[in-house]
Amino acid sequence: MPVADAHVDALWKVYEQGLDFRSSSLMQADYESLVKGSVAFQVFAVFVSTRRSAQQQLTDVLGSIGQYYAQFVHTGLVRPVLWRQDLTASMPSELEIDSPLAIGGLLSLEGAACLQGSIYVLNALAELGIRGIGLTWNGPNDLADGCMEARGGGLTAAGKRIVKEMESLQLWLDLAHLSDAGVRDVFATNLPHVMASHANARAVHDHPRNLPDDTILEIIRRDGWIGMTFEASFVHAGPATVDSVFRHVDHVLQLGGENHLGLGSDFDGLSTSVLGLSSAKDYPSFAERLRARYGEVIARKLLHDNLMSYFARQLPSHPVS
Ligand SMILES: [Zn+2]
Repeated sequence: MPVADAHVDALWKVYEQGLDFRSSSLMQADYESLVKGSVAFQVFAVFVSTRRSAQQQLTDVLGSIGQYYAQFVHTGLVRPVLWRQDLTASMPSELEIDSPLAIGGLLSLEGAACLQGSIYVLNALAELGIRGIGLTWNGPNDLADGCMEARGGGLTAAGKRIVKEMESLQLWLDLAHLSDAGVRDVFATNLPHVMASHANARAVHDHPRNLPDDTILEIIRRDGWIGMTFEASFVHAGPATVDSVFRHVDHVLQLGGENHLGLGSDFDGLSTSVLGLSSAKDYPSFAERLRARYGEVIARKLLHDNLMSYFARQLPSHPVS
C-alpha cells in the first residue's frame, strides 16, 4: 500500500551533517528507506537551529532548500509537487510504486523566525517551493510562542500578518509545535484547512506537543488534517509500541477523524523511536498491522488517501494553467 507522510527531517540531516540522501545508514528517511517503505509522497521539513539568529536561520533555510533541489530533485530521486495539478497529473499507480520511481516531494517550513516578520520573504520562500509553514518550533519567536514556552503567549501582530498572507498564498498552516494560545488565535480567524503535521492526542498521552480534543475537533470541522507521529515520548510514557500508536489512532477515529487522519512520522527527527517503527523501511509491516486492526478501507485512508485529499484541497493551482 502506498504511503504519504507529512513530516520527516531528512533534509536537516543532509544539510547539517552532510549525509547522502540517496542512501545513508545514519538516516531513517533516506531515499532507499522511503522506497522500501512504499512512500509515494513525502513532505520534507526545512528545519534550522533556533539557537541561531533569525538572519542566520534565513541563510540556513536557503541553504537547505538549495540542498533539496541539488540532492533530492536534480538527481531524479524526488519529483517536486508544487501545484494541485502536480498531484493529479502524475499520481503513481500502485504498480509503479513497487519499482523505484521519483517520490513526490513537498517542502514545509518548521519554525518561521527566518521570515523576520516579512511578507516579502514569505512570498520568496513560496516561490522557492515552500507549501506549508509552522510558525514556531518549541520556543518563542517574533511571530508566536511555541508549545514549550512557559509564558504561553499566542500570535503576535507580526504572526497574524504572516498568517493572513499565508492564506492568500494558499500555504498550509501547521499547528504542531504551536502554543495552545497560538492555536486559539489561529482558530479566531477564518483560515480553512489548518493541519498538524506531526502530533498525537493529548487525551491519550498528556504532552504539550499533543493536541487536546477541542483542537482535534476544530481541525476536523475545518476540513484540515492531522498526522500521527512516532516520537516515542509523544506516544506513551515508557517504551512505546505500535499498539501504543494505535491508541492515538483509536481516539482520533472516535472523535470522527476517519477522513482527516494520517501520518507525520518525524523520521530523522526522532530522539526515541517506537518499537518496530524506527525508519521508513518499517512502513510495510506497519501497514499490515493497520490493515489487520482497522480493515483495508481505513488503512488506505490513514496511510495515503487522506493526506492526498488534503493536498488536493489546500495546494494552489498553477497560476497559468
Ligand atoms: Zn517537529
